[in-house]
Amino acid sequence: MDATQPQALAEQLAKLRADYLARLPAELAALQALAGAVQGGEGDRACLEALHQRLHKLAGSGGTFGLAALSAAARGLEQRIVAWLAGKPDPVDATACRALAVELAGLGQWVGQTAGETVGKIAAPSSVIPAPNALRSAGKAIRVWVMEDDAALGEQLARQLESFNYRVQLFTRIDEAERAARSESPDMLIMDVMFEAEGRNATEALADFPALRALACPLLFITSADDFESRVRAARLGAVGYFLKPIDIPRLVNRMGQLVEQLSAPPQRVLVVDDDADLAAHLCLVLRAADMVAEVLRQPETIMDELASFQPDLVLMDMHMPRYTGPELAGVIRQHDKWTGLPIVYLSAETDLERQIAAMRRGGDDFIIKPVSDAQLVAAVRVRVERARQLADQINKDSLTGLLKHASIKEVASKEIRRARRTGKPVTLAMLDIDHFKSVNDTYGHAAGDLVISALATLLRQRLRQSDHLGRYGGEEFLVVLPECAGAAAQRLLDDIRQRFANLRFSYDGQNFSCTVSAGHATSCNAVPDDAANEAVVVAGDADLLAAADAALYDAKRGGRNRVCAAVLEARQGEVPA
Ligand code: GH3
Ligand code: MG
Ligand code: MG
Repeated sequence: MDATQPQALAEQLAKLRADYLARLPAELAALQALAGAVQGGEGDRACLEALHQRLHKLAGSGGTFGLAALSAAARGLEQRIVAWLAGKPDPVDATACRALAVELAGLGQWVGQTAGETVGKIAAPSSVIPAPNALRSAGKAIRVWVMEDDAALGEQLARQLESFNYRVQLFTRIDEAERAARSESPDMLIMDVMFEAEGRNATEALADFPALRALACPLLFITSADDFESRVRAARLGAVGYFLKPIDIPRLVNRMGQLVEQLSAPPQRVLVVDDDADLAAHLCLVLRAADMVAEVLRQPETIMDELASFQPDLVLMDMHMPRYTGPELAGVIRQHDKWTGLPIVYLSAETDLERQIAAMRRGGDDFIIKPVSDAQLVAAVRVRVERARQLADQINKDSLTGLLKHASIKEVASKEIRRARRTGKPVTLAMLDIDHFKSVNDTYGHAAGDLVISALATLLRQRLRQSDHLGRYGGEEFLVVLPECAGAAAQRLLDDIRQRFANLRFSYDGQNFSCTVSAGHATSCNAVPDDAANEAVVVAGDADLLAAADAALYDAKRGGRNRVCAAVLEARQGEVPA
C-alpha cells in the first residue's frame, strides 16, 4: 500500500487506531490490577512507578487516537500518582487507594463513549495539510513571468534573466497576464508595483484579477516606491522579494536562485524517538503524508549511528521512555559537535513546566505537548526544519551564489569519495574556473564580474542532478561533485555546461559581452571504466582526486581555455581492477 495516497493513508491510520482500541481493554485491566496492589504503605513504590509510566503513556497516546477524554482522565490520575511518589500526602491512606482503584476502573467509560463518535472520522492528513509546492525536477528551465508596463525596461530585464537560463514571458498589460493565468502558471512571478499606473497600483489592482491572485508561485516586486505603505501592501500579497529600481540584477538573480532552491528542496527528514510503537507509527504516517521522510528509532543505544545514516533534519523526541529519558538522549546527541545544530523537539505528555524547562536545558529546542493534532504537528515540524535549514545555509553557503562555501563543499567531496569507496561506484570531482576573469572586472567593473559568477552558479545549478553537489571553491572557481558519474558522462555534462556558458550574453550598463569557462575533472572508482583509454582508474584519496581535477583544469587553461580536460591518473599497484 502506498502511504502517499490519501485513501491508503486513511486506511492505515484507521487500522493503527483499531489495533490500539483492541489492545486498550488489556491495558486498562493491567492498570486496575496495579491499583489493586497499592496498599498505602512502604511497599507501594514499585507499583506507583509502574502506574505512573502506564498512565503517562495512555495520556500521550489516547488523544492521538481520538480519545481525548480518556487522555485527560489518565493525565489527572497520573498527576495524582506523581504527587504520591513525591510524598504528598504522606502516607497515602487506604481510602485514597480505594478511590484510585475506582477511578481507574472508570477509565473504561471514556473508551466506549468516544470511540463510537470518532471511528471513521480520521481524515487523510494530506487533505488538510498542504504539501509544499515542490519543483523537484532539476535541469528543467524555470518559467518566469515578468509584468512590467514599461516595455523597454521589461525587455531588458527579460533578456538579462534569460542569460541566467530562466524562461521568461513578458506581459506589459495586467489583463493579458490574467488571461494567461487562466490556462497556465509560471514558477515565479516578477511584477512592477506601479503597473496599471492610472490611479491604482498593482497591489490594489490585483484584487480584480482572480486568476493572477490564485497563482501559487513566489511573487517578487520591482518598484521605485520605497515607502513603508508600499512595502506593507507587497507583504500583504505575500511578496517574497522587493527590489528597488534600478534593479540590482545579481541580487535579484540571487534571490530567485534561493527561491528555486527552496522549491526544489529535498524532503524534510524526521527521526521519531518514542517507546510507544502505536504512537510512533502514527506520527510517521502523518509526517509521510505531508511529503516528509520519517523513521522510528528502534534501539536508543544506536541513536548516533542512526543519525549518521538517516541524516535527519529534526528529531521528535519523547520525554519518558523505559531505559533512557529523552533529555538523556538529547544530552548524548549534543556531545557530538557535528549535531549541535540539529533541532530536537520534545513531543511529550509532560505538562510540568519545571521538567519541560529542565529538558530544554539538556539540548532540546522546543516542546510540543501530546496529544497534538496532525496538522499542528506537521506545521510545527515544517517551520522548524525550514528555519534550521535557513540558518545552516547562512553558515555554509556563499552569499553571492547561494552555493556551498569552500570548507563545506570540500567536506561533501570527502564524504562522497568515502561513499564511493564503500559502494564501489564512481564519483567524479570537477573544478571549473572562469577564463580571463580579471579582465572582466577590469573592463566592465566588479559588479559585472559578480553577475558573471552568479550566472555560472545558476547555470550549474540548473544543469546538475539533485544528487550532485556544487560549491564556490574560490573567487571564480567552482567545485562540482558528481556521485555515481563516470568520466565519460562527466565530460559530456561539463562540455555542455561550457558551451551554454559561452553562449550567454551578458548586458551590463549598456555593454554586451560574453565569457568562457575551463574545467578539469577526475574520477575515483573501483569499477571498470565505461570509456576513455586514458582513464586509468584508481582509488584515489580526497586530496589526490582534488589535486588531479585541479591539474586537469590547469591542462585546460594551458591548452587554450574554454575546454574540458579529464585527469590522467596514475594507476596504483594492486588497486587497478582486472
Ligand atoms: P584564468 O583564465 O587563468 O583563470 O585567468 P583569470 O583572470 O580568471 O584568473 P585570476 O585568478 O588571475 O583572476 C581571478 C580574479 O577574480 C581576481 C579577483 O579579483 C577576481 N575575483 C575573485 N572573487 C571575485 C568576486 O567575488 N567578484 C568579482 N567580481 N571578482 C572576483
Ligand atoms: Mg579564472
Ligand atoms: Mg581563478
